[in-house]
Amino acid sequence: MTTMVPSTTPATTLIGPGRQALDSALLQLDRAADRLGLDDGLRTMLATPRRSLTVSVPVRREDGRMDVVQGFRVQHNTTRGPAKGGVRFHPSTDIHEVTALAMWMTWKCALVGIPYGGAKGGVAVDPASLSTRELERVTRRYVNEIMPIIGPDRDIPAPDVGTDEQTMAWIMDTYSINAGRPVPGVVTGKPMILGGSAGRAGATSRGVLISALKALGGSPAGRTVAVQGFGKVGAGAARYFADAGCRVVAVSDVTGAVVDRSGLDVDALRAWAEETGGVYGYRHADALSHDELLELDVDVLVPAALEGVITAENASRIRARLVVEGANGPTTPEADRILADAGTTVVPDILANAGGVIVSYLEWVQNLQACSWSASEVDAKLRGLMEDAFDAVAAMSAERGITLREAAHVIGVGRVAETHRMRGLYP
Ligand code: GLU
Repeated sequence: MTTMVPSTTPATTLIGPGRQALDSALLQLDRAADRLGLDDGLRTMLATPRRSLTVSVPVRREDGRMDVVQGFRVQHNTTRGPAKGGVRFHPSTDIHEVTALAMWMTWKCALVGIPYGGAKGGVAVDPASLSTRELERVTRRYVNEIMPIIGPDRDIPAPDVGTDEQTMAWIMDTYSINAGRPVPGVVTGKPMILGGSAGRAGATSRGVLISALKALGGSPAGRTVAVQGFGKVGAGAARYFADAGCRVVAVSDVTGAVVDRSGLDVDALRAWAEETGGVYGYRHADALSHDELLELDVDVLVPAALEGVITAENASRIRARLVVEGANGPTTPEADRILADAGTTVVPDILANAGGVIVSYLEWVQNLQACSWSASEVDAKLRGLMEDAFDAVAAMSAERGITLREAAHVIGVGRVAETHRMRGLYP
C-alpha cells in the first residue's frame, strides 16, 4: 500500500490547477455579470462563497499509524435552495478547486431549474492508496467534521471524482446515526436499497448523450466519438453513445488510451478495464497517447475526467466538431476562445453534465416524500429538464451571438441574481 499523499498546501507555489479552475470560474462569472449589468456589490457576493469550511481528517491506518488529511466543504450559494454538490476524493484537490466546483454547481442548478444552491466537498486523498476500511474511516470522519453544515434542507452531498455509491451509503449512515433517525435525504447517489433513485448511476452520462444529440441535430448513426476518462461518467457515456448508433472510436483513462476507427466494443473494453485496472493493454485496439486522443478527427469529443485538459496549448489542434463536457471545467477560457474562433461547438459543463444533479434532485424529492419512481418516470423527467435547459441556452446563444457557455452562464447567474433581488438583502 502506498502512503497517503500529504495534503498541506504550500504557502507559495506556482499557480496550481485548483487556483486555475477558480480563476476560470471567476472570469466566466465576470463576463456573465457584464452582460447582465450586475452592480459591484452583487458581483462580489456571487464571487464569494457563502460558507467555506476546511477540516482536518485524522485517520487510523491499517498498520496502526495515524495520518491526517485535509477536507473541505464549500457552500457557494443558498439563494435558490439548499446547497447541493458532490464530494471529491483526489490527492490534488484543494480549497480553490472545491470553491470553483461549488460555484459551477450554483449556476448548473439554476440553469436546469432545480431548487438548489451550489456546494462541493473534497478530501485531499488518493482513494486507490487506501484499503476499504481506511476509506470508510476517512469518509465517516470527514462527514463528522462537516456535520454542522450539512443536512437534507441545508446542504446535500453526492458522488464526484473518486467517490461512489458506497461512499454515499457511509455518509447517509454516519449522519443518520448521529441524528438518531434514518435521514436518507441528506445525501444523493445512494445505493437503491438505501433510498437511491432508479437511473441515478447513469444519469450524468445520459445527460451527456441527450445534450450531444441536441447539439448534433440529425441522426446520430455512424457519428464518431472519443471519450477522455473511463470512469462513472465516461464509461456510461461511451455505452449510451454506442447504444444510440454512434461509433465510439477512442477511450482513455489514467492508464492509457486506445483507438479503433471501426468502433470499440464498449462492453468488452469495460470488462477489460475492470479486470486489469484500466484500458491500457486492451488487445482489440491500438494504443495512443492522451494528447492524441484529444486531438483525434471525430464528430464528438467528450472530456469526462478533470479540469483544465483543453488549454491554450492544445486547443488549436482539437479537430472534433463538437465538444461535450462530461467533466467540470475541462476547457480553459483561453481554449474556449480558440475553439469558438475555429467554429467548434462546446456544450458547456454546467449544461452537459447536469444530468447527475438533476437525478440527484429527483432522488431527494423521492426521499422527502418517502416514495419511489420507476426508471422510465425518472428518465422522462431527466430528459425534459435537460432538453428545456438546452433549448433555453441555444436560444440565448443565437439571440445574442454568444457561445453556448456564455449563454448558459448568463441564464444561470441571471436566475441567481434575480432570486436574490426578489428576496432582498437582510438586514
Ligand atoms: N458531482 C456531480 C456534479 O458535478 C453531481 C452533483 C450532485 O448530484 O449533487 O454535477
